[in-house]
Amino acid sequence: MKVVVCTHCILNQNAKLEGIAGWPGMIEEVMAIIRRSGAGILQIPCPEVIYEGIGRFDKSVEQYRCPAFQSLSKTIASGVIDQIEDYLNWGYQIPAILAIDGSPTCGFNLTQSAPEWRGRVAEMNWKEVRYIPEPGVFMKILSDEMKERSIDIPIIGIPELPELGSMEEALEKIEGALK
Ligand code: SF4
Repeated sequence: MKVVVCTHCILNQNAKLEGIAGWPGMIEEVMAIIRRSGAGILQIPCPEVIYEGIGRFDKSVEQYRCPAFQSLSKTIASGVIDQIEDYLNWGYQIPAILAIDGSPTCGFNLTQSAPEWRGRVAEMNWKEVRYIPEPGVFMKILSDEMKERSIDIPIIGIPELPELGSMEEALEKIEGALK
C-alpha cells in the first residue's frame, strides 16, 4: 500500500529531448531503490512529449510558460493529484514525488532558463543555457495545486546531469522517504 509518484522519464528515458538521455531506458539507481522498498509507481505522463512530440527542439522555462503549455500541465497535474488524493483517502502511503532537476518542465530545485531564446533556432547560442533555482512549469503547477488541496508530499529532485546536483544525495533522500 505504498506508491511513489515518478516523473515519466525516470521509467522511460526515450521521452527525453533526443540526445540528452543519461540512461538507456530507466534510471536504474532509482528503480532499484523503489523495487527494494516494495512500493508501486504512479508514472506521470510526459507533458513535453504530449505537447510537441519526440522530435521537439530544446526549450527554456520561459518558452514553456506559454498559456497552452501551462493549461496542458494543469490538466495533467490535476489528474495526477486526483489519483494521489484517492490513494490517500483509501489509506495508501505516497512517500514521495520524484522530479527531474534541470528540466524546464519537471525540474523542482533547478530549471533550465534562457529568457532570450526565441525565433530562429539555428542562430541561437546554446552555451547561453543556464539554470535557475525555481521549479519547472509542470512541477510548479503540481506543487501549487497540492498546496491548495492541503496535500503535503515531499518532492525530490533527481539531477538530469551530473553538474546539476548530487545523485548520491538524491538517492539517499529517496531511500529515506521510502523507509
Ligand atoms: S523531465 Fe518531464 S518533460 Fe522532460 S522528458 Fe522527463 S517527463 Fe518529459
